[in-house]
Amino acid sequence: MGMTGLKTKELLIGLLQSETERDKQRKVGASQISNPCTKHLAMALAGVPQEPSKYWLGGKIGTAVHLLIEDLIDKADLAQFPELEDCMVEQKIILGELQDYGTVSSKPDLALVKDKHLIDWKTTKRDEAKRIQKWLDTGVINAKTEYTMKKYMAQGQLYAWGLSNMGVEIETIALAFISRDGTNEADIVVVDFEYHEESALQLWTRLETLWDELRSGVHPESYAGDANCFNCAINGLV
Ligand code: SF4
Repeated sequence: MGMTGLKTKELLIGLLQSETERDKQRKVGASQISNPCTKHLAMALAGVPQEPSKYWLGGKIGTAVHLLIEDLIDKADLAQFPELEDCMVEQKIILGELQDYGTVSSKPDLALVKDKHLIDWKTTKRDEAKRIQKWLDTGVINAKTEYTMKKYMAQGQLYAWGLSNMGVEIETIALAFISRDGTNEADIVVVDFEYHEESALQLWTRLETLWDELRSGVHPESYAGDANCFNCAINGLV
């Protein structure tokens, strides 16, 4: 007798849920610093372990998409994709130092150095991609999607700032949304915007201020959560 279906499912789930290097990273990076919710950032800074999400599969598919794109870039013919010459993939960047915390670093997905362009791959659902496209077309956006966009755009600003600080000039940023349940190119949406050093500086200052408050004894849970955060809305925490 071979493996039963149940065993196979156990094996697959076990593999998918095993800790990766990225999961082991306990320090905050651009994806937390950009979170509009101060409570979330405070908890992350204080090292409060996060409950594993009940909705973990989307994140794993996201990781798989990132790995696929990395592999495709690695094997790409530069004659066909000249913009990839001198590109930086998952290059570690230093955002700064926090006293008694250490170095705060991150890894932007892709910098096209010659084009001064930064790209962040995002996986999403088709319905959300449609909402983002509608926002681009009409300016209409709901509160949850706006929260997500604010977070992602801030994350892009931080990446661009980190790259600029190491001498890699960035002028434009793109968030490329790939629908996990999409069927073709209509389910890929790209949001382009300009890099503004000022935005990144504000995010860094907020982080420093928050860290100083935490060090002076403020409890991370005393900060208010954000009503538009999807996580808390579904867990009923706000
Ligand atoms: S509101 Fe959302 S972002 Fe804020 S602490 Fe709760 S889960 Fe985290």
